[in-house]
Amino acid sequence: MEHESKQILENSGIKTTGSMVASSEDEAIEMSTNLGYPVVLKIVSPDVVHKTDSGGVKLNLTNEADVRKAYQDILSRFKTERIIGISVQKMAFPGLEAIIGVTRDASFGPVLMFGLGGIFAEVLKDVTFRVLPISEDSLDEMIEEIKGYSLLKGYRGQSIDISALKGLLIKVSNLAIMYPEIAELELNPVILYPSGYLAVDARMFVDFAPSKSALEVPKKKETLFQLFYPQSIAVLGATDSKGKLGYNVMWNLISHQFPGKLYPVNSHKETVLGLKAYKSILDVEDPVDTAIIIVPAGAAPKAIEDCCEKGVKFLVVESAGFAETGEAGRKIQSDIKELIIRKGCRLLGPNCSGIINTHHNMVQSIGVIDQLRKGNIGLIAQAGVYAAGILTGLRNVLDFGIIATIGNKMDVSEADILEFMGQDQNIEVIALYMEDVTSGQRFVDVAGQVSQKKPVIVLKAGRTEAGKKAVSSHTASMAGSDEINSAAFRQSGVIRARDNEHLFSLLRAFSKQPLPKGPGVLVVTYTGSLGVAATDMLYTSNLRLSELESYLKKRIASCLDDYLNIQNPVDCSFSMNPEQVKKIIEIGVQSKDVHSLIVIVQGEMLDSYVDTLTGINYMGKPVLCCVACKEFMMEHVIRMEQKGIPVYSTPEMAAEVLGEMHRYSLQHHKIRIKSLDRFLEDNSFTIANRKVRLRLLTQRDMDLWMEFVNSCSPRSLWLRFLSPFSATPEIAQRFCNINPDEEVAVAAEITEEGRKKLIAIARLITCQPRDEVEYAVIVTDSWQQQKLGRMLSKACLNLAKHLDVRVVNAETIQENFPIVRVLNHFHFKIESKERNMILMSLELK
Ligand code: ADP
Ligand code: MG
Repeated sequence: MEHESKQILENSGIKTTGSMVASSEDEAIEMSTNLGYPVVLKIVSPDVVHKTDSGGVKLNLTNEADVRKAYQDILSRFKTERIIGISVQKMAFPGLEAIIGVTRDASFGPVLMFGLGGIFAEVLKDVTFRVLPISEDSLDEMIEEIKGYSLLKGYRGQSIDISALKGLLIKVSNLAIMYPEIAELELNPVILYPSGYLAVDARMFVDFAPSKSALEVPKKKETLFQLFYPQSIAVLGATDSKGKLGYNVMWNLISHQFPGKLYPVNSHKETVLGLKAYKSILDVEDPVDTAIIIVPAGAAPKAIEDCCEKGVKFLVVESAGFAETGEAGRKIQSDIKELIIRKGCRLLGPNCSGIINTHHNMVQSIGVIDQLRKGNIGLIAQAGVYAAGILTGLRNVLDFGIIATIGNKMDVSEADILEFMGQDQNIEVIALYMEDVTSGQRFVDVAGQVSQKKPVIVLKAGRTEAGKKAVSSHTASMAGSDEINSAAFRQSGVIRARDNEHLFSLLRAFSKQPLPKGPGVLVVTYTGSLGVAATDMLYTSNLRLSELESYLKKRIASCLDDYLNIQNPVDCSFSMNPEQVKKIIEIGVQSKDVHSLIVIVQGEMLDSYVDTLTGINYMGKPVLCCVACKEFMMEHVIRMEQKGIPVYSTPEMAAEVLGEMHRYSLQHHKIRIKSLDRFLEDNSFTIANRKVRLRLLTQRDMDLWMEFVNSCSPRSLWLRFLSPFSATPEIAQRFCNINPDEEVAVAAEITEEGRKKLIAIARLITCQPRDEVEYAVIVTDSWQQQKLGRMLSKACLNLAKHLDVRVVNAETIQENFPIVRVLNHFHFKIESKERNMILMSLELK
C-alpha cells in the first residue's frame, strides 16, 4: 500500500510526501498540525487501488475543520472495504506530474518506464522504456525521447530539475535491481520542480518467486570460433539415400568443398557419398571439432553422449522432435541440456538447419543449397526454413558471409552468435530474424557493443498486442512486450526493420554502400514527380537536398537541355541518358554538401545504365538507385545489385534507407566521440601544478581555437603549418568540424580565472592504409619548454595504441627542434630527409 511503499522509497533516499497513517480523527488532526497545513488525506486499504476514483483522496485541506470533514467523508464512503487507516501527508506544491515505474519482462528482466503523468501517460501513451541496468547515456536519451520533453525543458517559463530527475530514476532502478522480489513499482505521480521533486503516490507489488530471467546463469566467456570455422566435422545420421536430410547435409558439405575433414557416421553403411563411414563417432581416430546430429530425436541423447565422450566441443543438432512438439520432446530436450552442461560442450539447435559460412566453404543446411557468393552479411535466423527460403531468391542480390539458424536455442542463443559475428572480420553487417528473444539482458549488452562496431538490423515478429499480460500497474499495462522489445533495441543501438521487405532493403544498402558522412543528398531523376516523392521522404528521414556550389551548378547546367532549370533534384526529363547522368554525378560528387546520391532511372533503359553507373567514382559517398517497377526487369537489377548498387522500386524506400544509414552513422559518431573523450579524460595530466585536461576538439570550440591560434607566434604557426597561417572563421570551421573516423584532434585545455583556454592541439589523421596515422602537434608559445608537447604526445600515442593504429608518421622541418626532440624521445625512426623536410615514423606494438 502507498504508505508502506513510500517507507521503502524513503529508506532508499527517495523524497515522498510521507507515510503517516492516522487511525482516529484526533490523530489525523495532530499529524496535520505537526506537518503544517495544507494537508492531504487518503484512504489506506488493501481493497482500494485507485483511490481517487472512489473518493478516497482529499486534497488541499487548510484547517482542522477541513480535516475532520474529510476524515468522516472518506470513512463514510468505504463501508465494505478493509480500512487500515487514513494517510495524512503534506500537500505538495503544484509542479509537473510524471510517472516512473518498474516492471519485469519475461525475457529482458527489470525494465524502467518514464513519462509525464495524467493524460500524457494514460491517453497519449507518451512513455518510454529501458531495460535495466541503464547507462548514463541511455538515461539522457530516455528523458529526451518523450514527446513531452519540451515541457520538461521549459514549463511555464521554468525548466525542470533534470539532474534531480535523473538521480531519482537511478535510485528507482537500483531499488529494482537490488530487490528482485519487487515485481512492479510505480510512482504515480511524482511532482517535478525547477528544483527537486516529490513522490506523492507510490505502489509496489511483491513476488517472492524469482522470475525466470533472474535464474539464468550468465554464460562463461568462450569463443565460438570452432563452431563457425571447424577443421573437422562428423555427421551423425549421414546417409546416401537421396532425399533424406542426412543426405542433403553431406551433399552440401561435399559440393561446397568444405576444406576440413568429414566423417559420416552411420552404423549400416561402409561408405557415404564416397567417404568412409564410421559405425560410431567413437571409432573416428582423429579429433572432431563439430558434430552435426541428424538422427531421430529419440536417438539424439545417445548420439550426443557419444560425441561428448569423443571430446567434441560443438554439437549442431538439426533433428526436430524436441520441445517444439510437446511434452515428450521437452523431456528429451531437458535431458540433453543437463548432459551438455555436465560435459561442458556447446550445442546449436535442436530443430535448426546448422550454419553456412561462405568464407569457410561450409554449408550444413538440411535443404540442398546451390552455389553461394562470399559476402559480408551475417544472418541469424530462428528457423532453418526461413533462412533457406530467403537464400533461394536473395542470394542473387545479397551476399552472405555467415548464416546461422538457432532453432530451439537450447544453449547457443542469438546473443552468443551476435557476439561472435561482432568479432568476425568477414562480417560487416548483421541481420537477425527473431520470434522471441530468450537471451534478454545479455542480448541488450552484446547488441550494444556490436552495434558500435557494425550495423545490426533486427526483424522481430510478434508486434501485436497479443503478448500483453493481465497486470495491475499502469507501467505493466503499458509495457506490452513489443514496447519493451523496441526499447531494448533502441537502447542497444540496433536498427529495427518493419517487415521482411524493409529488412532486405536495409541490408542491400548497408552491405554494399559506405555510410553517408552528412545529411545532404543529390537526387538525379528523369521525372519531376519521382524526384518530389524522394524529396518528401528525405526530409521525413532527417535528410535534406544538397545545396550545390554555384560553379558546380553552372557545370551541371551545361549537361542539361536549355529549357531545364538546374536545381536539386536534377531533373533531366525523359531524354535522360547514361552518359549525361555520369557527367552530372561526377560534377555533383565534388560538392562539399553532397554526402549521398539517389539516381532515379527509366526502367526500360536500366540495362544501359548498369555499366555506366557502377563504373563511376563516387568518392566514398553512397549511391542508391531507384527504378519504378523494377520487378519487371530483374535481370538488369540483379546485375546492378551484384556490382554493388542497390536498386529500389520506389524513391521513398531509397530515401528512407539512406535516412537509416545516416542515423546509424550519427549514432556511431556520437558513441565514438564519447568513448574517445573518456579515454582522453583518463589521460589528462598536471604540469607545473596546473591541471591540463585533454579532450576532443569539436565544432563548439571555434572561438577557443581562434583564440589559441592568435596566442601562437607567427614562427610557431609557421613551424606547424609550413606556410603563413591565420585564423579566419572559415579555417576555424575546417579545423574544428572533424569526422572522428578520419581524424582525431586532441585539445589540451586549462582553466584560467574561471575561463577555459586551449594551450596545445595535437592531431592524428588517418591515412592509407587505414592503420597508419599522421601525427602533428602545436603548443602555444607561453607553454613551450615545459614538457607539455611530450606529455601530450605520450597521451596521443596511448590513444593511437588504443585505436589499434600500427604506424604513426610525423613530418616536420628540421628546424622544428622541440618536435624532433619529442619524437626522438618516443623512439620515432627517421624514414627520409628531403631538403629540410624530415619524415619520422614509429611502429606501435
Ligand atoms: P490514486 O492514484 O490512487 O488515485 P493519488 O495518491 O495518486 O491517488 O492521488 C491522486 C492525485 O491527487 C495525484 O495524481 C495528485 O495529482 C494529487 N495528489 C495526491 N497526493 C498529493 C499530495 N500529497 N500533494 C499534492 N497533490 C497530491
Ligand atoms: Mg496515483
